[in-house]
Amino acid sequence: MSTVLKTIGIVGAGQMGCGIAQVSALAGYKVNIYDLSQERIESALATINGNLARQVSAAKMTDDERKAALSLISGSADVNDLAPMDLVIEAATEDESVKRKIYTLVCPVLKPDAILATNTSSLSITRLASATDRPERFMGIHFMNPVPVMKLVELVRGIATEEATFKMARDYVSSLDKTVTVAEDFPAFIVNRILLPMINEAIYTLYEGVGTVDAIDTAMKLGANHPMGPLQLADFIGLDTCLSIMQVLHEGLSDSKYRPCPLLVKYVEAGWLGRKSGRGFYDYRGEVPVPTR
Ligand code: NAD
Repeated sequence: MSTVLKTIGIVGAGQMGCGIAQVSALAGYKVNIYDLSQERIESALATINGNLARQVSAAKMTDDERKAALSLISGSADVNDLAPMDLVIEAATEDESVKRKIYTLVCPVLKPDAILATNTSSLSITRLASATDRPERFMGIHFMNPVPVMKLVELVRGIATEEATFKMARDYVSSLDKTVTVAEDFPAFIVNRILLPMINEAIYTLYEGVGTVDAIDTAMKLGANHPMGPLQLADFIGLDTCLSIMQVLHEGLSDSKYRPCPLLVKYVEAGWLGRKSGRGFYDYRGEVPVPTR
């Protein structure tokens, strides 16, 4: 556990927020999750409990450890509950206007010396920092999905981030037994700058009829030794998040090679966002995922 930070606030009880809450509680931090409604909080707590229970069944932790971790996590739809937190990690929807609104709401509640971080996959840390009252105590702490499994966390400084902020974030991440990599504040940082254009290209490959969903995923799993096919991975990340990242790359780097595939846009417009909405490049509503193309 960090010697300075003891309490972690999380904004956004989605797949990333749940994962960050889980690993933080397992490392001994007291966690408070904030989201728009109490139902989302309840569903997040149930998800975290389910994940921990699976670990107990797999003999990867004891039931006492599960109970201890759960007892450290609370949540509510009242932003004032974030007031005592030492570090608040915003893991809400990948939309700059949503994040800006959140900072306007959250900053007045926080202690003056609290650190505010964002888990954004792609947005400019410096620009997001300008929407807060504490650019020197603001930075990117970018966890990978699924948080409990993935070892890497990218740390990204904004132009004003102070060294003390960076060190506290690095100590926190190390205390979760994760490895830090430092990225400069350019669109999508390192992992997604490389990964998302590959996923977008896989969607173009589908769009142009070069292969079916199954053919493309099988090709990359067995032909490039990827643990998941790119379309399966896109569904796992969330197609709305994939589209947002491609838009940030396209706009931020002004290069047509990052043009989001129109088929990705169509899936998002249909509300087919991947696993989280039950349907994306695969349909998850039955026993086994079935390709939708
Ligand atoms: P998600 O859609 O699963 O969850 C987003 C959550 O934010 C939802 O619970 C939603 O209710 C909440 N939210 C939206 N507006 C809010 C507001 N105004 N106040 C409070 N909560 C609000 O998304 P996710 O996949 O968990 O992604 C969250 C963030 O993490 C994004 O910035 C995303 O880019 C980043 N990220 C995602 C992945 C991934 O693979 N999905 C990986 C790394 C980082």
